[in-house]
Amino acid sequence: MWSIRKRTLRMIMEASRDSLPLEFGAFLKAEKNVIYEIAMLPGTIQGDRHTLFYLYNKPIDFSIVGSVHSHPSGITLPSDEDKHMFSNSGAIHIIVGYPFELESFSAYDRASKPVEINVI
Ligand SMILES: [Zn+2]
Repeated sequence: MWSIRKRTLRMIMEASRDSLPLEFGAFLKAEKNVIYEIAMLPGTIQGDRHTLFYLYNKPIDFSIVGSVHSHPSGITLPSDEDKHMFSNSGAIHIIVGYPFELESFSAYDRASKPVEINVI
């Protein structure tokens, strides 16, 4: 069972709002299945997930457990490209959607199956 700190989720929503009309993307850091921080890597380009996950394929930090990115459309379903990326870049993936309220997100596992995340 996964959880995320409320302040971390709030930070993700704010960054997603600030990134409009582009997507926001980052990595998730967790300890004992509690997501407590996001990590931006140097050289990461907003709105370009290919760059993001190319870098991720060379893990530098073992507390990174997955990814988060925004869908300005508000629809938090994974695209085919997202599903492919989920399958090879970590155990837990969050898609947040406009209007980026605290409940405006969906979470998926490596197989793109929806999973529950507790906000704590
Ligand atoms: Zn997406």
